[in-house]
Parts: sequence; C-alpha cells; structure tokens
Amino acid sequence: MPKLDAPIRRGVRVIVPSQLHVPVAALLVALLALCVMLALRGRARRARAGAPDERVERLTLALWATGERYWDYDVASGQLRHTTCAMVAPDGSEVVERTAPIETLLHPEDRPIAREALARYLQGDGSGRLQVQLRVAIDGDDWRWVRARGRAVARDRDGAVLRIAGTALDITATRAAEREHRIAAEVLRSMREAVAVIDAQFRYVSVNPAFLRMTGYTESEVLGQDARLLDDNSDSEDVSRHLREQATRHGHWSGELRQRRKDGEQFLATVECRTVHDADLGTPLHVFVLNDITHQKRAEQELRYLANFDTLTSLPNRSLLSERLSRAIARAQDTGRRIAVLFLDLDRFKDINDSLGHAAGDRILRAAATRVQQTVGMHHTVARLGGDEFTIVIENLDEAQAADRIAREIIHAFEAPLRIDERRQITISPSLGISVYPDHARGPTELLKQADIAMYQAKAAGRRTFMRYDDAMDIAARRRTTLTGALREVLDRGELRLALQPRHSMALDGIASVEALLRWHSPTLGEIPPSEFIPIAEESGLIHEIGEWVLREACRTILDWRRQGLADISVSVNVSLLQLLRGDFPGVVRRVLDEVGFPPERLELELTESVLMADAEHAAARLQALRTMGVSLAIDDFGTGYSSLAYLKRLPITTIKIDKAFVAGLPDDPEDAAITTTVITMAHALGRTVVAEGVETEAQLRFLAERGCDELQGYWISRPLPPAQCLAFVRERPAHGPAAAGTGPVAPP
Ligand code: C2E
Ligand code: MG
Ligand code: MG
Repeated sequence: MPKLDAPIRRGVRVIVPSQLHVPVAALLVALLALCVMLALRGRARRARAGAPDERVERLTLALWATGERYWDYDVASGQLRHTTCAMVAPDGSEVVERTAPIETLLHPEDRPIAREALARYLQGDGSGRLQVQLRVAIDGDDWRWVRARGRAVARDRDGAVLRIAGTALDITATRAAEREHRIAAEVLRSMREAVAVIDAQFRYVSVNPAFLRMTGYTESEVLGQDARLLDDNSDSEDVSRHLREQATRHGHWSGELRQRRKDGEQFLATVECRTVHDADLGTPLHVFVLNDITHQKRAEQELRYLANFDTLTSLPNRSLLSERLSRAIARAQDTGRRIAVLFLDLDRFKDINDSLGHAAGDRILRAAATRVQQTVGMHHTVARLGGDEFTIVIENLDEAQAADRIAREIIHAFEAPLRIDERRQITISPSLGISVYPDHARGPTELLKQADIAMYQAKAAGRRTFMRYDDAMDIAARRRTTLTGALREVLDRGELRLALQPRHSMALDGIASVEALLRWHSPTLGEIPPSEFIPIAEESGLIHEIGEWVLREACRTILDWRRQGLADISVSVNVSLLQLLRGDFPGVVRRVLDEVGFPPERLELELTESVLMADAEHAAARLQALRTMGVSLAIDDFGTGYSSLAYLKRLPITTIKIDKAFVAGLPDDPEDAAITTTVITMAHALGRTVVAEGVETEAQLRFLAERGCDELQGYWISRPLPPAQCLAFVRERPAHGPAAAGTGPVAPP
C-alpha cells in the first residue's frame, strides 16, 4: 500500500490531510475520535465537559455548521480515514466514513507538497499544527482545493507519531475568488491607464501605479485627498462639479479634462467615470479611468496643420486655399463684389535653386512668402501651391482693374533684394496672372486655372510682369500644349534649321563672324519663332538636347566654310541659362568641339544678361571653365535686365551685345543715345568688345560707328540667312585684316 511517508526517514510518520468533499454530518467519526482523545486526557476533563453523547452532538453540529470535515491518518499504514458527509446533521444528511490509501486521494502534482508538509511536521516536536492546501478527489469527483489542518493524536512509547487527525475545508470557491482578485489587482497595476477609486465624498481611496506616474504624486500624497487635487484651474471647477453631479446621479460620466500634475505641468486627459456600489461599505465608489491624451491631441493638431498649411512657409496650402476661395465666392455672391485670384510664379527660380542649393532656395521661398504677405496685407489669403507658385485671393473689389494695382505693387516690392542669410541677398522677380470672379469664372478651380494661364502669358511676355486673363489666353495655353508635344519630336523629324546672321566688324571692315539663330518649321504648325518655342524647350527640359544640336550644327557649318577658304570666320551660338547651370555644360562644349574638330577660339557663346545677373557667382565659375578652353563669351540683350556694369568686372565676359531696344531709338532718343554711349565707353574701359544688335538704319550705324562700337549686327547689314546664302554674303564682304583702331563710319553694305 502506498504511503506518503515512504521517502521519509524511518520512524517519522507522515499525516496527510485528506480531501474531504463530504457532508458535514460525516463528522460523526470526528466525534468518535474526539471521544477517544478525551478518554486519554482523563476523567476530570471529561466530567467538566459533560456527557459524551452530548459532546459528540455539539462537535458534530460545529463541524456541520462550519463546513469542515473530519479526517485521520494512520502513519504506519498510510491509510486515510475521512468522512464524506456530516452526520446527524439538522438537515438529516447522512454520514459516510471511508478509508483509502492517501495516494489515491491526492492530486499527483500536490503529492510532493503533502510529503514535504508532513516531513516538516514530523521533524518538528509535533507540538505545532499541520496545515496544507492541496487538491483532492473523493469518490471520483472533480479535483477540489481543500485546506487541511490537524495535529498528532497518537504516539508510540518513543514519542513517534502514530496518527494525525484534523479537519478539512473545501476552499475551491475562495481560491478562485482570490485568484480573480489577484489577477484584477495585477491588471490594475500593469494598466497604462491611470485608475483612481474615489469615495462618495470624492476623496481618493485607491490609485494604481499608472495614476502615480501620470500625476507625479506618491500614493500617500493622494489617498484621502479631495479629487480636485488634479484640477487645473477655476475653469475646471464647473466641469468638476458637473462631473460629480453626473456620476452621483447617473452613475456614469465621460469626457475630457484639463488636469495639472504635481510639478504644475498641464495635461489633457480623457476621463471615464463609473459608479459601483460596494456591498461591504454600503456607499458608492466612483472608479475613474484617465488617459493622458496631451501628445495625441498635439499630433492631431499637427496633422490638421499639415493638411492645411505649407510647412516651409506656414502659408495655407492648396486645400485650404480652395476652401477659402469657395467661401469667398459664397460671400461675393451675397455682396455682389468681385474677387481677384493672383497666381504668382518666381522667375527663373529653378535655376537659382539648382545653383545655390536647396537650403538657399527654401530661404528664398520663405522670404518671398513674407514679402508677398506684407505687400498685400495680412487680411488677404496668400497660399503656396508648391514649388515657387503662390496664390493671392483679394476680396471685395469693386472693379477688375483694382487687381492690376496689387499685382504692380507686388512686382515693385520684389525689386528690393530678398535676404538669404547674413551675407547673401538675391533679387528675383515674379510673374503674375490674374483672374477675376465673376468676370472670368464662377468656380474656384476655374479661377485658379485661368490665373495660371494668365501667369504663363506674363512669362511669355518677358517675365517680371502681370497679365489679366482673357479668353484668348485659353487658346494660347492650348497652343503651348500642342507645341510642347510637337517639340519633343522635333529632332527625330529633322524639323530644325539654322539661320546665320552676319556681324560686321568695324576694325576689319567686313564680316568677321555670324550668329546662329534657330529656326523651327513644323509641317503641321508652320514656322514657329524662337521666342515662342525656346521658353517651352526650357520648361520641358528639351533645351539641353536642342541646344547641343545647335552647337554641333553651327560648328559643323562654319568648319565647312573654313574648309572652303573662310579661315577667320567665327560663330556665335545662343545658350540658355538652363544649359549653362544644369549638368556639365563646359564638358558638353568640349565634347562637341572635339567631335567636330572645331577651334574653340572661333566659337562665341551668347548668354542673356538678366539670367547671368540672377546668379552671377555660380555662373562665373562655369564661364571661367569655358574661357579657359578658349571660347569667347558674350552678354546678349545687354541693358534689358538688372543691368549692372559692375557685375561685368566679375564675369569673364569678352563681348557685350547692346540690345536692339536701345539701338532702335538712335540717334534721336536722348536716353537711348546716352545709354548706348555709356555702355560703349564703360565696356571699352573694362576691355570688352561691344556689338550693337538690331541696326536697321544708316543713321544708327553712323551713330554707333562714331562712338567706337566694335561690331554691328542688324537688318541694315543682313537679315538672318540660310547657311548657303550667308556663305555667299560673307564671301562678298570678307574681313580685311586688322584695321586701324577707331575706324570712322563705314559705308552701308
Ligand atoms: P538674340 O540672340 O538677341 O537674336 C537676335 C534676334 O534679333 C534674332 O531674332 C534676330 O532675327 C533679330 N534681329 C536681328 N537683326 C535685327 C534687326 O535689325 N531688327 C530686328 N527687329 N530684329 C533683328 P530671332 O531669330 O527671332 O531670335 C530671337 C531670340 O531667340 C534670340 O535673340 C535668342 O535669344 C533666341 N534664340 C535664337 N536661337 C537660339 C538658340 O539656338 N538657342 C537659344 N537658347 N536661344 C536662341
Ligand atoms: Mg543672340
Ligand atoms: Mg540679342
């Protein structure tokens, strides 16, 4: 028969509390045992305790009433005797007494626990009490948790324990409740939400660690305190009162509260309050669950900001602009007044951005945003649509012309340079397009589109200006789209040609060079002037391919002429600033010259003045690389941009071409005469060659020749010609070796 004390040293006997899932009436046996005990303890005590039957009955009732069951364990045999039901119970239940080997009753996992408890008990002097909790099964029932208590009731002569007796109580339900309680406490402890239990007087009764973390208080600083401890200020008094009323009356409240931590820092919390009724206390308790949503709220605000504002300039973005414009239109419908939408684009911003770097580009955009807003005033919406595009909405206009005035003011405001940083500032001009509600359109999308189209027209008109939308622009916009498409195929289809315009040298008294001018004849669209398609080529990026084609074609043509005996002729090629600033332009020139086998000193590159000045320093480095190669450099259309002769000193420029606009007024217009004379004088002082463009009359020619202008170009000499014709023209007027300086007026060709 298995015994629990088997592994324990001999002589030590172990008693195990058996698992008694038995009615209390079974305690009859316990009474019997007690009787035995009492007999051993002497008569006197027995006499004091009263008659045995009576005592048995009392004990039986006591066991029945407390739910305890009797057991005794015979150490030698390992047999456990136990009652299964209270005997003679008032409810008439019947006692059953059973004896079984203890092993068969205990849950396998709890047997070591029982052994150890017994060993400990028997090793002691036996005076204490054996107490253990374990699972037992009786009569094949489910495992039940019992708490068994007992002590030695019989010993041999040597004092070794022979029997242990005691009672056992089914604690399955209690243990389950305790476990639930432990889990609940653990959950509360590990919760991220702060939980506070508050009594009916709204004083803290209990808080969890998250509450202490969230508020910065210690438990002792909180418990017993009024729940107003966290209230932020007097404003929250009302909220707090409302909360109390709701919680007390309806048992529930939820909302957001602004609270204050111990260190004074504010935080925003969602609060969920539920009232529970505590049966023991008889008074209600309020359970508060708090969630700190300060960060979440901030993130939400940031998201809302990001959705509506441009992060770089802090101006409204496209979506907020549309919303505001729609509202403005609704207001204008009521008032019957006009709205102007101004679409602004910074001229040549991409080049500046590419050459100065994006950080400087960002600063320019921020400075431009401020400049626009300051000019139109804070009460008008200025939005950034992306890139260098801004939109301005002007409400309450009486007439469409009023928008022109604002556009003019903006252009004027940009004449003062924008500060990039401590050391650098830059001048950049805007081009603006204007559309007017209700004259041009009645919806926000249409108005924006029209202002955009008008802006493109302003660019095409030479930039740094504004245009008001009209229907013709729509046609122009459509043509642009068509041209862009056609331009993409222009090289594959071989639709480009060069026209060459001779340049007369005063010193050499003949044609010393020609300017290559691009011509595009499209079989479907006809002849398209360079002033129309070059800006489109720049915008679409096709200018690089096209520009390289011009350079190669010009060099090839002139090389051919050289082979035909015109050894000293040079060629000028127009270069867009985009070509110069993007990619490795000096490398491209080098490659083309090498491929064609063209001498660099016979090539001149023309760059328009306004674009060079916009970013003189960056351009200077590249120009220097070209000069080092031996290529000459000319400033084209001099006088049309932010002319500054001072800049010329810094740039490795060899030639200045006075724009035909100044030549046109010669010799009668005193201003044009003065400007032309000054430019010639100063350019010579700086050692540069001067070319006058657009010479159309003999009078112009004489004026320029008298002022010492070095070269002349214009219809008076020759219109741009196809290469073969130009070759014939040049042959007739060859340059004649170096002529004496300061040649007088030449005879018209
Ligand atoms: P530009 O470089 O200033 O060229 C001179 C322009 O003035 C040419 O116009 C020419 O035909 C015109 N012209 C010449 N003499 C006279 C005159 O006596 N009176 C008048 N009223 N005009 C005269 P075009 O050929 O229409 O070219 C216009 C502009 O297009 C050029 O101005 C140049 O900036 C640009 N361009 C032409 N070809 C190219 C090219 O291959 N690449 C680049 N990037 N631009 C080019
Ligand atoms: Mg030119
Ligand atoms: Mg020119």
